[in-house]
Amino acid sequence: MNNQFKKARIRLTFWYLLILMAVSLIFSTVVFISLDAELIRNARREQQKTVAEQLQIKLPVPLPDPKDLRPELINPPLNKEIKQSYEFSRNMTMLYLLIANLIVLGLSATASYLLAGITLKPIEIALENQKNFISNASHELRTPLTILKTAIEVTLKMGPITYPQMKNILESNLEDVNNLETLTNDLLILERSKVNLTTVRIDQIILDCIDKLKPLTTKNKVSIHTHLSSISIKADESGVNEVVTNLLDNAIKYNKPGGKIYVSVAKKGLNCVLEVKDTGIGIEEKHLPYIFDRFYRVGLKGFGLGLSIVSKIVTQHKGKIFVESKVGKGTKFTVIFPSNF
Ligand code: ADP
Repeated sequence: MNNQFKKARIRLTFWYLLILMAVSLIFSTVVFISLDAELIRNARREQQKTVAEQLQIKLPVPLPDPKDLRPELINPPLNKEIKQSYEFSRNMTMLYLLIANLIVLGLSATASYLLAGITLKPIEIALENQKNFISNASHELRTPLTILKTAIEVTLKMGPITYPQMKNILESNLEDVNNLETLTNDLLILERSKVNLTTVRIDQIILDCIDKLKPLTTKNKVSIHTHLSSISIKADESGVNEVVTNLLDNAIKYNKPGGKIYVSVAKKGLNCVLEVKDTGIGIEEKHLPYIFDRFYRVGLKGFGLGLSIVSKIVTQHKGKIFVESKVGKGTKFTVIFPSNF
């Protein structure tokens, strides 16, 4: 726990303690006032008995209304003995309440400290995650920027260059800029928490994504096979688009030349089930628990953000995502969207 959180924990403990002690003190005061009233009533009754004995009269039980009593018996001044006994009981009550309050103070302090820790833990974890995220993002941004900067510096130091040389350099620069654009887009998507729900045709989204990824499919020599039922779900259109694009993009990127991709969407009960299966390189079992983590990647390709975006969007839709993979054989991602979301 860092210093900032230690201070916040102590401050929170203090406030919890203050509230608990205020409640305990109010409760003790009420108890004390009612006990004191009872003690004074008893003392007066005792005194009335003594006075009645001195007057040689018998007091009726229960006592009648004070206005029906003889004047000597209405609030008679307490004699020394009765007063001492009343004061003793009063002091003892005070002492017991003080001890009880000290015990409450000790217990409350411990409970408040523990409670403050429990309250602050999720905030601390979220802040830690955010810090890691910023440091990872800055690191990822720095690499393409450094490459770009070096390329520009080298070009500037070069003598006169030919048009093909310049074209080469600019193409390489553009690739770096594209990488930076992808990364910043991914970061923005990851931080976006707004979900704009509409009725979307998931099969149509899949077809659009396949169309959009055609150049990559051709370049990597893989083919996509579909089995799509016409399904409408309540979802965020750009979110579903991101899910499908990232899963297909990975299935193409991590495939082998001549490899295949099978995409299907079907309704199962109340859910909509999307499957993206490829015959690619597969993922080693030891990596599987981490592939949905931000910036986790197995090789050097990509930024390791695609699947964390997918996972975040699926969670936003109260859905689930599963992965099965065999090295050298292929990978299958199954996404379940609840259609009543
Ligand atoms: P990136 O955007 O860098 O591809 P992802 O978060 O999408 O990162 O994926 C994380 C890692 O999971 C990748 O580095 C890759 O090794 C592995 N991976 C994801 N999808 C597949 C797939 N279909 N086949 C094989 N490996 C995959």
